Amino acid sequence: MVVAETREADVVVVGAGPGGSSAAYHLTRHGLTVLLLEKTEFPREKVCGDGLTPRAVRQLVRMGIGTDPADGWLHNKGLRILGGGVRMELDWPDLASFPDYGLTRTRLDFDQLLALHAKGAGAELLTGHNVTGPVLDDAGRVVGVTAAVGPGKEPRTFRAPLVLAADGVSARLALALGMAKREDRPIGVAVRRYYRSPTRHDDDYLESWLELRSKEAGDKLLPGYGWIFGLGDGRVNVGLGVLNSSAAWGRTNFRAMLTDWLATTPPDWGMNDEANAAGPILGAALPMGFNRVPHYTRGVLLVGDSGGMVNPFNGEGIAYAMESAELAAETVVQALARPAGPARERVLQGYPAELKARYGGYYRLGHWFVKLIGNPQLMRIGTRHALPHPVLMRFVLKLMANLTDPRGGDAMDRIINGLSRLAPAA
Ligand SMILES: Cc1cc2nc3c(=O)[nH]c(=O)nc-3n(C[C@H](O)[C@H](O)[C@H](O)COP(=O)(O)OP(=O)(O)OC[C@H]3O[C@@H](n4cnc5c(N)ncnc54)[C@H](O)[C@@H]3O)c2cc1C
Repeated sequence: MVVAETREADVVVVGAGPGGSSAAYHLTRHGLTVLLLEKTEFPREKVCGDGLTPRAVRQLVRMGIGTDPADGWLHNKGLRILGGGVRMELDWPDLASFPDYGLTRTRLDFDQLLALHAKGAGAELLTGHNVTGPVLDDAGRVVGVTAAVGPGKEPRTFRAPLVLAADGVSARLALALGMAKREDRPIGVAVRRYYRSPTRHDDDYLESWLELRSKEAGDKLLPGYGWIFGLGDGRVNVGLGVLNSSAAWGRTNFRAMLTDWLATTPPDWGMNDEANAAGPILGAALPMGFNRVPHYTRGVLLVGDSGGMVNPFNGEGIAYAMESAELAAETVVQALARPAGPARERVLQGYPAELKARYGGYYRLGHWFVKLIGNPQLMRIGTRHALPHPVLMRFVLKLMANLTDPRGGDAMDRIINGLSRLAPAA
């Protein structure tokens, strides 16, 4: 009988999206052996807006990844907001803690770049490895994973004292451990499509639409929020999202809504002509505000979307996947330096505690915000009255993009940080 090979490492990381690849990078930089298991083969698409705020750029910088335009990045200066008849450009804030620019790059490129960066740092990247479940010891603790490998789905086992679940919103590993998503947390669904758009592809602002209208339905207001992000390669990433606080939740035809909205855009943008579409309309869920907890249990740490870490204010998930990955890696390094048992467990419990301290209050504010904007009247009042005020909108940008200095910031930073501290952690 041929016994399938079992591989061992200090850490097994499941999923090579931004969370998994960042975690693998930081772990290997601390000298640990890492198996990074990814079910797909790179390059591969991932449904996303492809937009990075300064928060995500800071994480790239921390990983030593160059962000020069010559390396294929399109830089942006800030956010352009459209709504209530107002069009306003807000530059990213000038802060000590974050760079003052954002980026765009397709996930086709971006995810491969990060995975290869982790591999370059020493992680063993194993693509075509679909993780099928946890391996448990007699005490019910996770000591590895099983995977179906390659086209033949050959079963293999990968063992490690600690496992990071960075398998995205499907959260297969967490589900196998009985960790269902929390229904009392915000969640969104979003769709996107690429269009060829010579006039809009090199936009140096990320564009956000607070009001979407449909020509078809007599200038009717559509539920949801849209974006147009230039990619600098002749294409734009255009999409829209709906939150579960909306009355339209669960009964929205997203594809029709996207084309209805785009039919109202100027013809020279090229987005109301099927001939300019570069691929299908694809959608996915955005798990927000810690909608899956606990973030550590029985030898497994949840990173990024698997732990529901998308920012409820703006739908940004890449930065939080990369930040939680770095924190998880630091926790694991310290944990593995202690003997297995209570001393190690104490360190590991520090991961959910630190996540809660960093984002818990802010995500609670985000949850309240999601509930508020679920009411179209309130949203309309907010759009009409807040948008014409640049100072107020600069505050809103800092709040929604979570961009403040923790120390030495301005009055806006102090208010936002104070509110986040006061709000009960999500
Ligand atoms: C339409 C849309 C637009 C968005 N726009 C933006 C945006 O502009 N900016 C932003 O910051 N965020 C955006 N997000 C959110 C962002 O895409 C996610 O938050 C982010 O990808 C999370 O990263 P992750 O590494 O946690 O998970 P993922 O990126 O989902 O990576 C998970 C990885 O795990 C792999 N995997 C899954 N299951 C298994 C398995 N069983 N075995 C092995 N591997 C597995 C997957 O193939 C994948 O490579 C958007 C989301 C959607 C749906």
